[in-house]
Amino acid sequence: MVLFRQLFDHVSSTYTYLLADLRTREAVLIDPVFEQHTRDAALLRELELVLRYALDTHCHADHVTGAWLMKAKLGAQVALAKDYGAAHVDRALSDGDTITFGAHQLEVRATPGHTVGCLSFVSHEARMVFTGDALLVRGTGRTDFQGVSAQQLYHSIGQRLFSLPDDYLVYPAHDYEGRTVSTIGEERRYNPRIGGGAREEDFVGYMQNLGLPHPKQIDHALPANMRSGRPMDSERPEPQDWAPLQTTYAGLTELAPEWVASHRDDVQILDVRSEAEFDGQLGHLTGARLIPLDALRARAGELEPSKPWVVVCQTGRRAGMATLILKKAGFERVTSLAGGMVRWHQLGLPT
Ligand code: FE
Repeated sequence: MVLFRQLFDHVSSTYTYLLADLRTREAVLIDPVFEQHTRDAALLRELELVLRYALDTHCHADHVTGAWLMKAKLGAQVALAKDYGAAHVDRALSDGDTITFGAHQLEVRATPGHTVGCLSFVSHEARMVFTGDALLVRGTGRTDFQGVSAQQLYHSIGQRLFSLPDDYLVYPAHDYEGRTVSTIGEERRYNPRIGGGAREEDFVGYMQNLGLPHPKQIDHALPANMRSGRPMDSERPEPQDWAPLQTTYAGLTELAPEWVASHRDDVQILDVRSEAEFDGQLGHLTGARLIPLDALRARAGELEPSKPWVVVCQTGRRAGMATLILKKAGFERVTSLAGGMVRWHQLGLPT
């Protein structure tokens, strides 16, 4: 079985796709977005997947790829079309290559025209094709910059994509209207630019009259993507967190119980359970301050911000809510204890 997820970056309207072999846990990520690294890494971690490849369908002009970050942080291989000659690429891809993850494969198809090196990735097993910006849902990528032509894209779509079976699902790199998927058959019939038996002159005429503005991000994105998304040294110093916080796919942060136990003097503990639970069977951490969750909005002002706050509850759920309340109240250094008192006990840590 292939695991499949479609993720969205709302700033650039980019879709990122996660595919994985459920047995070997090997995964590939297609078109990761730099700013979404934390989200994507959290999902990979929570699904217990090992990222083999960060693939890009092309050298993007509208966002910076997250490929280099996936390589630097998770050890993935960066794969991009050979044509660009980009730096930090581990696998320079050409038409006909195969990307393997576990028992599964993606066929690499060259579909130039939006850029010179545009690739589509085909999963014959899942009957899906990841078309990048060559073929979009009821649209196509633009062909008016980066030294390409509408003629080239016409032939790429006609010969390399419309030759796939009608039922193959089309997953594009972008959609600006929230449309998530199409099929080859649907686009062959209804694509307003190249469907319905459009001839080359029809498509070229359409494309030459789009009148699109210069892409806003291009001056920043293209050079960054020629480095596979590796920031310049001057951009690199990362803001240091006050602790090894782990961000979840839900967007909350947690701290491992072991770390809290060994840094007890560096943080303050806030317990948000009821009084009965605080004095109950699971006990509480030494020195913990009790404010039940129901009262926290009203009483947040009682808390001293001089040291970071670690919020505790039974399993970590109410603590997660409490961190949101405290952040809204202006606390910057606040996180929850992963797994709450239940995991604290399982680990045999002191109360
Ligand atoms: Fe593009």
